[in-house]
Amino acid sequence: MRRATKRPGTHPMEITASGPVRTCVGCGSRKSQAELTRFVVGPQGGVVADRRRRLPGRGAYLCGAGCLTAALKRKALGRAFRGKAGQVDPSALGQAWE
Ligand SMILES: [Zn+2]
Repeated sequence: MRRATKRPGTHPMEITASGPVRTCVGCGSRKSQAELTRFVVGPQGGVVADRRRRLPGRGAYLCGAGCLTAALKRKALGRAFRGKAGQVDPSALGQAWE
């Protein structure tokens, strides 16, 4: 019997004409990956912006600074990173959009 291969911790990926679609963890809207900023837990353990979308590991996506605030309020980053996000510095992350 074959089991469907499903890696734990991966979201189902949707490919559209404009590329992969991701969900913003702040407002929950679904946008093409190109419109969102990716964040990952960096080597030092803190959350860092991954503007080139090249860093390994689990990513969380946000559309803008307003969504960062919303995500922090909802503790959405902690959930997105399974509690590995540690202390999140909103002003440092906000620089991703400056
Ligand atoms: Zn958003």
